[in-house]
Amino acid sequence: MNYKRNAYCGALTKANTGESVHLSGWVQRTRDVGGVVFVWLRDREGIVQLVFEESVCGKDVFEIGRSLRGEYVVTCVGEVRMRDAAAVNKELKTGEIEVFVTEAAILNKSETPPIYIDDKAEENELIRLKYRYLDLRRPKLQNNLRLRSKIISTIRTYMTEQSFTEVETPVLTKSTPEGARDFLVPSRLHKGNFYALPQSPQIYKQLLMLAGFDRYYQVARCFRDEDSRADRQPEFTQLDLEMSFVEPEDVQTVVEGAFARVFEAVKGINIQLPLPRMTWRDAMENYGSDKPDTRFEMKIKNFTDYAKNCGFPLFENCVNEGGEVRGICAKNLSTLTRKELDSYGEFVKSYRAKGLPYLVFNKDGTYKSSFNKFLTPEFAENARKVFEAENGDIVFFASDKKNVVLQSLGALRCEIAKRTGLIDPNKYNLFWVTEFPLLEYDEEENRFVAMHHPFTSWMDEDQDKISSDPGAVRAKAYDLVMNGIEMGSGSIRIHSSDIQAQMFDLIGISKEDAQLRFGFLLDAFKYGTPPHGGFAFGIDRLTMILTGSDSLRDVIAFPKASNAACLMMATPSDVKQDQLDALDIAIVKSEE
Ligand code: ASP
Repeated sequence: MNYKRNAYCGALTKANTGESVHLSGWVQRTRDVGGVVFVWLRDREGIVQLVFEESVCGKDVFEIGRSLRGEYVVTCVGEVRMRDAAAVNKELKTGEIEVFVTEAAILNKSETPPIYIDDKAEENELIRLKYRYLDLRRPKLQNNLRLRSKIISTIRTYMTEQSFTEVETPVLTKSTPEGARDFLVPSRLHKGNFYALPQSPQIYKQLLMLAGFDRYYQVARCFRDEDSRADRQPEFTQLDLEMSFVEPEDVQTVVEGAFARVFEAVKGINIQLPLPRMTWRDAMENYGSDKPDTRFEMKIKNFTDYAKNCGFPLFENCVNEGGEVRGICAKNLSTLTRKELDSYGEFVKSYRAKGLPYLVFNKDGTYKSSFNKFLTPEFAENARKVFEAENGDIVFFASDKKNVVLQSLGALRCEIAKRTGLIDPNKYNLFWVTEFPLLEYDEEENRFVAMHHPFTSWMDEDQDKISSDPGAVRAKAYDLVMNGIEMGSGSIRIHSSDIQAQMFDLIGISKEDAQLRFGFLLDAFKYGTPPHGGFAFGIDRLTMILTGSDSLRDVIAFPKASNAACLMMATPSDVKQDQLDALDIAIVKSEE
């Protein structure tokens, strides 16, 4: 029997009633009730119920129906009929109809699958990753990957309309400093030498500007060899772009346009443009994070001035030692239990806060605190004023070095919002964080490092601080943030060889080292480089958010497990001795 279908199972509706259809797909499940066999047949569009009834299909076809098992591949011809009202299955999109089979053939059998092909069966992730090709049969993963494809095609259309040229850049390349470790590929023809897989196409896209392409983009695969974390993928996809003769706003306008187009296409949501802008400084001061979740308020307020002589030794000492006292006001949480308060105290410890003093404004107008012995009416009044606290609210304090205070309160406000249901999951708060610091101090390495990457230029206004106070210099760097997540980042680049050399010097890359690693770039910059800037955003993450998935693994066809291994192919794996010999590589097993 031929298997050329003329309809998709999941696309049938009652409008097809009376039609003869030819379907091909996989058996989802079977139910044999004696004289009749009901079979759910699945294809990429969904499931429809087949009915094998001997009086309709004859003995031979009926026997085929009876022999079907889960995941058999079947082709069949049948008539679409309305179900009786009592037999309508609301669980199925096609639940109003069923197909009475007249002809059928088994195209392939299947062993009993090691996992249930069912969106409700999501346990055993490791086994599902091992049998990824089976897990991918689940409607949820099918829909996620189709939505991903739609996102990418929407972006491609938009970028083309914006007159960008898509250019592919090499995967076998040289290290680009994006802050992570490189994956290395040994060279056979140049023994002892290695390619690096790109952490981003950063240098190539800058060179494309030098070459005069003016507007470049790429759906680029990038690789970063980072320590395994729950939801990290060693390879990921970015929409990478670069433009010439632009200021930050020009790049931002293109990027936010792409986001608006995608939201419109896949969610039907109209995003108001231009997006709001927030400086890095404001983000840190108000939210304690450079990627604040602004779906709820609970801003951080500074209490340091009042803490100086407040009578509470912990706060006074902290201020005297140059620290700060800040806090957040959690609305209507005055009735938190001791246990809940303690668990928030535990929570902030992982952000290096030593404790979590609090002040509760009871509903009856009285107040109490975790430091009652030192609490004066004046303290309470000041706190009421600074934190705009009302009866029924609770103020949490942090006193420490500024960065510890901001980080712990920033994390705490998100945790409180999460635990107390303050977050509206249907809200998408997209905005720009601008004016990032150019440099950050690396305590371990005892030197400045580039906060974005070393190709980022500084703000003209801060030119005079470059030698006197480099830590205070702001960069022409910007991130796009949504709901507490960094969606992507970019910057206006350095386009002069001298300034690039100065930047390498600032971050402690010696002249020789700079020449060795980036000599080609410093040279290239001497041949008429236009001012340029760009951006990159993660397509995996965007897809994860737009599909409402909890994990990147749900939006990548063949993801790695959290230990960076592919459980399906068992990669990474060892290689044959002759492959190693060809590379002049010997494996030396470490003691462990
Ligand atoms: N190369 C940067 C990154 O991958 C993005 C950019 O600066 O355009 O994060």
